[in-house]
Amino acid sequence: MTETASSPAALKPLRVAVIGGGITGLAAAQRLVSRSSKVQVVLLESSQRLGGIIRTEAADGFLMELGPDSFITNKPAAIQLCEEIGFTAQLIATDARFRRSLVLRNGKPMPVPDGFMLMAPSKPWAILTTPILSFRGRLRLLSEAFIAGRMTAEDESLASFVRRRFGQQTLDRLVQPLVGGIYTADPEKLSLRATMPRFLEMEQSHGSVIRATLAQQKSDRKQALKHPHGVPESSGSGARYGLFATAAGGLSDMVAAIEQTLRKSGRVEIRLGAEVTGIDRPTVFDAQWAVQLRQESPLTFDAVIVTLPTQAAARVLKTAIRPELHAALQEIEYASSAVVVSGHQLSDFAHPLDAFGLVIPAIEQRKILAVSFSSRKFPDRAPAGQILLRTFVGGAMQPELLHQDDNTIAGFVNAELRSIFGMNALPMFSEVIRYHNAMPQYHVGHLARVARIESLARETPGLYLAGSGYTGVGIPDSIASGWTAADRVL
Ligand SMILES: Cc1cc2nc3c(=O)[nH]c(=O)nc-3n(C[C@H](O)[C@H](O)[C@H](O)COP(=O)(O)OP(=O)(O)OC[C@H]3O[C@@H](n4cnc5c(N)ncnc54)[C@H](O)[C@@H]3O)c2cc1C
Repeated sequence: MTETASSPAALKPLRVAVIGGGITGLAAAQRLVSRSSKVQVVLLESSQRLGGIIRTEAADGFLMELGPDSFITNKPAAIQLCEEIGFTAQLIATDARFRRSLVLRNGKPMPVPDGFMLMAPSKPWAILTTPILSFRGRLRLLSEAFIAGRMTAEDESLASFVRRRFGQQTLDRLVQPLVGGIYTADPEKLSLRATMPRFLEMEQSHGSVIRATLAQQKSDRKQALKHPHGVPESSGSGARYGLFATAAGGLSDMVAAIEQTLRKSGRVEIRLGAEVTGIDRPTVFDAQWAVQLRQESPLTFDAVIVTLPTQAAARVLKTAIRPELHAALQEIEYASSAVVVSGHQLSDFAHPLDAFGLVIPAIEQRKILAVSFSSRKFPDRAPAGQILLRTFVGGAMQPELLHQDDNTIAGFVNAELRSIFGMNALPMFSEVIRYHNAMPQYHVGHLARVARIESLARETPGLYLAGSGYTGVGIPDSIASGWTAADRVL
């Protein structure tokens, strides 16, 4: 019998399980119900709250982000999602008064050269005068403009690229700490192509990152002359927020707004405390996916979107997928880190803390990776005269530090704050939040690995994989990945 528009099979809604209630799972569910009226979604989240790594807490006048604190706006998915759920009025930009970063050199915080974006120096004269690099280091950095580009399709580590183009000092003193702050990764292993393809494109299009940056500036200036009152804002443009945005009341408000949209749709059942322990693929006896939950009977679905970190995805999918896919998912490594959130009196510091934060090169041999000055970055994060800090510990380069207990970690963070910023009193409070295997490491070969995973997953109809383990580690990438999975289901 063929299916017609009015046949029972055509009228039956598509039942989709979304596994994981972090931002990826929430975005996937939102996309499914916003793009089709014929979908019924069950969102299965093992913990008692939605948001996953995203978590905001408020206490004693402090607004604390325990996980991410903002998202980049030049990747449009997060802003687009906020537009779709009517949340843009709550978005705020960073505080322009403190818009600069510091980097530690010989124990002293110094400003990152003006206009230096990860590795693109948009103001060469700022490089000529920076005390971060020696005179030779500065000349070597600027000589990048004259070093011939290498045209190769081979993947390369970030460290190899930076060493080749800008020299060892720029790698050690600027790029490693700046990138380490984002990926908590070892640049010797990090794939340039998977993490910062823009720089590779710059080398390939202009023969040099510096020349490409200067050409881009020239074209931006021409645009500005054409549109003296500003380039018109298109939907999804992050231009009006600056490079980073967050929610005025914290990112958990964004999670709550998505949850509200899902509940309003009437077609999403949100189940908290629902830990998925296994997934079985359809068989000749049963045409549906069976999702097993701890201490509950299995549920059946037409399609399943798994938004867990890849290693957890491999565990729950063990019997549902081919051994090659299982192995490929496990190949993606993750790093663990801890965030120490602390509240202080500003007057307890000799340093003015007049920036967004400090990054620390590995060669400085400190026990902390970076410090974000949260209440300088965004308004209303701390009461007047006080400051909220977030200090990052561990990552791929110092995993052993996380074997220490919370008191020890808080203790060495205080010692570092004392030594670097002249802190002369203990914090009013400090809380250690651990992220075990939460940060995917996009090592050399990552894109080929992901392409293999995607092609193997396509051989399993009804199964879709999404999350930060595949095509981008930040919030906008996670949202885009959830959306792509939902679009494939539809
Ligand atoms: C410390 C830290 C700081 C960061 N800072 C930023 C930042 O400032 N900006 C930015 O853009 N990105 C940042 N990121 C990255 C960003 O947080 C992630 O990309 C994003 O939150 C990932 O979301 P997700 O939904 O894919 O995963 P998760 O948030 O990990 O969600 C997965 C969910 O699945 C649930 N789950 C796990 N196993 C099961 C199971 N068996 N059954 C059911 N549910 C299960 C978990 O409880 C969790 O809720 C940061 C990450 C970390 C660790």
